[in-house]
Amino acid sequence: MSNGLVNTRDQQFVLFEQLGIEKLFATEKFKDFSKDDVLMMQNEAEKMAINVILPTYTEGDKEGCHLKDGNVSIPKSYKDAFAKFKEGGWMCPTKSPDVGGQGMPVVMATAYLELFSAANIAFCMYGGLTIGAAGLIEKFGTEEQKNKYMYKMFSGEWGGTMCLTEPGAGSDVGALKTTAKRLPDGTFSISGTKCFISAGDHDLTPNIIHPVLARIEGDPPGTGGISIFIVPKYKVKEDGSLGKLNDVHTGNVEHKMGIKGNATCTLNFGDDGKCIGELLGKEKEGMKVMFHMMNEARLEVGMQGLGHGTAAYEHAVQYAKERIQSVPVWEMKNPDAKSVAIIQHPDVRRDLMWMKSYVEGIRAMNYFAAYCMDMAESSSSKEDHDKWHGFVELLTPLCKAFSSDRGFDVCNKAIDVYGGYGFCQEYPVEQYLRDCKIAAIYEGTNGIQSLDLVGRKLGQRKGANMMAMMGLIGATIAKAKAIEDLKKYAVKLEEAFNCVVELTMTLAGLGKSANFLVPILYASPFLDIFGDLLMGYFLMDAASIAEEKLGAIYQEAGAEESKGKQRGLIRTNADVAYYAGKVASAKFFATEILPTIKGRCEVIKAGDKIALEIADESFTII
Ligand SMILES: Cc1cc2nc3c(=O)[nH]c(=O)nc-3n(C[C@H](O)[C@H](O)[C@H](O)COP(=O)(O)OP(=O)(O)OC[C@H]3O[C@@H](n4cnc5c(N)ncnc54)[C@H](O)[C@@H]3O)c2cc1C
Repeated sequence: MSNGLVNTRDQQFVLFEQLGIEKLFATEKFKDFSKDDVLMMQNEAEKMAINVILPTYTEGDKEGCHLKDGNVSIPKSYKDAFAKFKEGGWMCPTKSPDVGGQGMPVVMATAYLELFSAANIAFCMYGGLTIGAAGLIEKFGTEEQKNKYMYKMFSGEWGGTMCLTEPGAGSDVGALKTTAKRLPDGTFSISGTKCFISAGDHDLTPNIIHPVLARIEGDPPGTGGISIFIVPKYKVKEDGSLGKLNDVHTGNVEHKMGIKGNATCTLNFGDDGKCIGELLGKEKEGMKVMFHMMNEARLEVGMQGLGHGTAAYEHAVQYAKERIQSVPVWEMKNPDAKSVAIIQHPDVRRDLMWMKSYVEGIRAMNYFAAYCMDMAESSSSKEDHDKWHGFVELLTPLCKAFSSDRGFDVCNKAIDVYGGYGFCQEYPVEQYLRDCKIAAIYEGTNGIQSLDLVGRKLGQRKGANMMAMMGLIGATIAKAKAIEDLKKYAVKLEEAFNCVVELTMTLAGLGKSANFLVPILYASPFLDIFGDLLMGYFLMDAASIAEEKLGAIYQEAGAEESKGKQRGLIRTNADVAYYAGKVASAKFFATEILPTIKGRCEVIKAGDKIALEIADESFTII
């Protein structure tokens, strides 16, 4: 069930067989949903992704965005696609029906988002940022602000952005220079420049609502002094109609390596001293408010990594089955040997296996994080809520950074599978690679995510979130060790697990020692190691389920004792082929990747500080 972008069979496996999301439908919050609804909407989402969004992919990349006479134009094809996307009810499916949504579990919407992300993230970002910004007004806005802005944003009538970054304030948001001056009527005069603002200006909607971080004059420096303001591109009159331009001007549209269909803008606020902003939430709580949007956005960026990875993998498999090149290595000396499809060559198979296992592991991790959000929201006790929310907190930097980095690596390998054709624009894989790269950078670079993991998330709730995650992994190891076919692979997972536990304890003990910089220095490799352990866990969990399903099918077909019959079934029974593939992913990962964890942990534990100690002057010869 591949549509060339996403394996919808694997989506269903994760949703129903691995996570068992039907449990959600037994809760009060999600009682109106059923498995049939999930499947029906998956079908609709697939049609939207393939028939409406995908055709904008290459075209949008070629056309790009342009600034002319102060106005920004985006790819023409996006307009019709956006209208259909809105009509289809895809703007805010997880939001309550009161604001125009469907109250859908996040995990359902996440599966559909995978399809949309695989089709074109540059397009999806226009809607995604709008809903994120509207969500801030929903949570922190006054009734008046909700009536004025929020509903029109949730419906997609107006657009939205997030305005944090400035030329001198990227990772260090607290260094921002944008100011807010109190006006007698309670509003604020906003003045400053924001750069790299996604969907910052465009001709898709008649108005754009910017949540802007700024410092009220006199407030303290750093993040603690930042407030957030609603700044519409066009002022909104009492009756809801549009007034004058709010002194928000686009200074530049970036020329980028990827997501060219999304307008990344420099926005100048208040050049003429006439830009009016309304305080959103409380003064000096701007970062707290913005983090509400950023945490959700980080999970969505993780899905962008997955979206590109899955599309690149599906394309690579298809290509490898069709491209005929070279005789098999074992027939090299046979002058009559025929060239075969490249999928027959061991090196290509290994690459495909690598891509398959990461794509499946990343899918399971991201869906699990989304499922935890739903479980937290629908739980009846504080204890349950905290447990599920704890998983989300712990996994957010991993979903964001690990999915985007490995998603990029999968795109890279896809280009290798295509050979020279992969480097050329006739095939989409080079665009996947270019478009995917940004996911490692925005919403806090992956370097910053690793610091968040090591510096904050590991120790959160006195380590209870981490312990709960380790508890899940431990249980899966025990389950898989009891399955004969998985036993030796489960032992590899156990070895990796023990190494990571030991390393985590070592790092935790360094906080107040002379080696306190070691966890910071090695935060990125630690995130990679932890991510690989999680991949091993999700894949092993999936494999143990698949083994049970295979056992039942073999029993029914009288093939339990015959490997030959089992191999025959792979060719005639799609379920057998699929489940055998799941088992293969876990075995491959346990054999190829998990054993490297031990050595990588040793490197960090050794705590070498060469990178810190080398003089700046020694990095290059002047
Ligand atoms: C296409 C695109 C779209 C974007 N969309 C938006 C948007 O919609 N809204 C918005 O507000 N911003 C947006 N951004 C900005 C983006 O979030 C920033 O580029 C990013 O946060 C990094 O900031 P910077 O570019 O200034 O890099 P810097 O902060 O200068 O970082 C450069 C390098 O130094 C590292 N570094 C910095 N500080 C530390 C530290 N303390 N410890 C360790 N390493 C550190 C970083 O990890 C990075 O590797 C976008 C950027 C791009 C390119």
